[in-house]
Amino acid sequence: MIEKALGVLRRYFGYTHFRDGQQKVIESLLLGTDTLAIMPTGAGKSLAYQIPALLFQGTTLVISPLISLMKDQVDALQQYGVPATFINSSLSLKEVRSRIERAERGDYKLLYIAPERLESESFRSLLGSLHVSFLAIDEAHCVSQWGHDFRPSYLQLGPFLKSLSNRPLIGAFTATATEEVRVDIIQNLGLSDPNVFVSGFDRPNLTFATLRGENKKVFVLDYVKAHTDQAGIIYAGTRKEVDNLQAVLIKNGLKAGKYHAGMKDEDRQKSQEDFLFDERTVMVATNAFGMGIDKSNVRYVIHYNMPKNMEAYYQEAGRAGRDGEPGECLLLFSPQDVVLQRYLIEQTIFQPDRKMNELKKLQGMVDYCHTPRCLRKTILEYFGEENIQEECSNCSNCNDEREIVDITVEAQKIFSCIYRMRERYGIGMVADVLRGSRNKKILELRFDELTTHGIMREVSLQEIKDRINYLIAENYLQLSNGEYPVVKLLPNAVLVIKGEAKVRQKVSLLPSRKETEEVSLFDRLRALRREIAQRENLPPYMIFADSTLREMAQVCPNDRQAMIRISGVGERKLEKYGDDFLAGIQSFIEVEIPGGARLKSKLSRSFNEDDIETPKENGNSANNAKEKLPSHHQTLMLYKEGLTLEDIANVRKLTALTVQDHFVRCSLEGHAVPWNDFIPVEQESAILDAVCKVGREKLRPIKDLLSDEVEWFTIRAVLEKHKVIAE
Ligand code: ADP
Repeated sequence: MIEKALGVLRRYFGYTHFRDGQQKVIESLLLGTDTLAIMPTGAGKSLAYQIPALLFQGTTLVISPLISLMKDQVDALQQYGVPATFINSSLSLKEVRSRIERAERGDYKLLYIAPERLESESFRSLLGSLHVSFLAIDEAHCVSQWGHDFRPSYLQLGPFLKSLSNRPLIGAFTATATEEVRVDIIQNLGLSDPNVFVSGFDRPNLTFATLRGENKKVFVLDYVKAHTDQAGIIYAGTRKEVDNLQAVLIKNGLKAGKYHAGMKDEDRQKSQEDFLFDERTVMVATNAFGMGIDKSNVRYVIHYNMPKNMEAYYQEAGRAGRDGEPGECLLLFSPQDVVLQRYLIEQTIFQPDRKMNELKKLQGMVDYCHTPRCLRKTILEYFGEENIQEECSNCSNCNDEREIVDITVEAQKIFSCIYRMRERYGIGMVADVLRGSRNKKILELRFDELTTHGIMREVSLQEIKDRINYLIAENYLQLSNGEYPVVKLLPNAVLVIKGEAKVRQKVSLLPSRKETEEVSLFDRLRALRREIAQRENLPPYMIFADSTLREMAQVCPNDRQAMIRISGVGERKLEKYGDDFLAGIQSFIEVEIPGGARLKSKLSRSFNEDDIETPKENGNSANNAKEKLPSHHQTLMLYKEGLTLEDIANVRKLTALTVQDHFVRCSLEGHAVPWNDFIPVEQESAILDAVCKVGREKLRPIKDLLSDEVEWFTIRAVLEKHKVIAE
């Protein structure tokens, strides 16, 4: 049975194997058992119901919570050649009827609707005439009051299902895993003896980082500037914060959009589209943005404010790297966030047990922001996973390379000022006194007479505030609750004032910008994707995911057969776009690689040392000579001079991938590349075995036979090494 499902996966979606978790869910559904699947964002829930839908008779009804996003989901399916449509309030009654009629004729395999539709008697009777074999409920946690997105209309689903004479098979899908939510989903939807699957929650391609006491605005600005060509989302806590931050980014020439519930519908819609279409690369938004958005090439998610709980955080952060390529998730903590979230809970939740529950979850989030342990382990344990390794080597706690500075003296100045102001004022006022302000209020209160008045005159006001925030975040100071929070000393601060303890702060290093000075094949393919997307009026990621383009750039397929082996290229997409991309790759090889057109016939041209100019006079001319060389020759030369691959990437401001490409180009031109340096001994024979089985023409089948640790570059290295020997 699973073979059939694999066939559908390959044919329509162009993927070769199921991801962890998908297979069991699909098997269970194909056996006709109600199924609850809990899979983290980006794990591939949609395919877990779309594939059974394609194999079942009749139509699958998909309940999806956001009307505005159904069109995207359906567009994406149509791109894969899957007959699907949606019915929602954006359509006229005539159009609704026509779609139902077509559904009756069996024109669609999937029909998306919002739960509110089921409240309409007439719509329910229209549905009666359809052969619905399977009902998939997306974002099923909306049915639970314990979930973070409770939607009363989801409660209609249970009674609706009961009322049906021919009850369809039910699949419920969510990323939220707590026990209460699980129980609610099963009960409220009336699942009958369901199989429940909880996939591993780990998303290994995501890097997690928490930062405390940063100047957030400066940090975000620097970060976005360093990532202008990448898509990212910045979540901020309030609409006002979203407006301000977006304005700052725009003022600095960055292509930022915004999204929150206070905007006009059409502005929000436009903003979302600009982001999906890569017109604006960074989206500043409240948590109103994102549910159901499956833009797969989001490369970073920054939380400008701490969210209310881990479920919300992981779901939002998980919007990075859905395509399996690296994604960065950064959380900027400030103590005011805790005050705000606590205030919101107090104001909006009145049931005592629910309030307690929310406060407990909030504390879990605060703990996450302070833990010195591995962040990934902390998250996974929160979701109930066991046997997690101690360190992931891919979070800010495991890879902490920040510099540590001693700020004891500054801290003492701040603490003693707060003490002298009798712990009755907020951050701004304390900072003003330290800075030596003589404003009216300070003079009135005679704070200008304090010995601490003006003792931090040389530091900017913002920096003093940042320091105070850091000291709050590190539990030296406490911010009281209420509308005008006051800073108070905690016992830790007293030890510092007495000189019995020191205060240290880690200073974060911003990721340096990689200025890829030359266009790589991947960039070229991205540009081509953008052109096609504009032509077809579709978001670029719906044409092909970043991961698919990256694989194309690595493998360089030269015919349709090779192209369909690229992960993410199914039959329909091959038909529609295959030739465009094949031509793009071909022209890149011919135009961009010096002598590329001659490559195929001249592969065995022998390496001639004279090809690389040797410095004859002084250092300057040596450098000049080097700069005149084709870029990939410069890379090889630097390597031969003793630089590592990483050094070269840093010195030349190239990505590691481009440096690797350079070696391959040099090898294709016949230059001797010391391939052994790049081939772990234990992998070489495994790669050669795989080559014996599936041939050396295509990389994908070779990669599929090997364990995940074997990198593409190693495979190329082995092929290049042995080609030279063979020739
Ligand atoms: P979720 O709904 O769980 O957040 P999606 O269904 O949107 O995740 O899938 C995330 C991305 O992963 C999509 O781009 C999808 O095409 C891709 N994907 C899903 N299943 C596979 C698979 N078996 N192999 C490769 N990519 C996959």
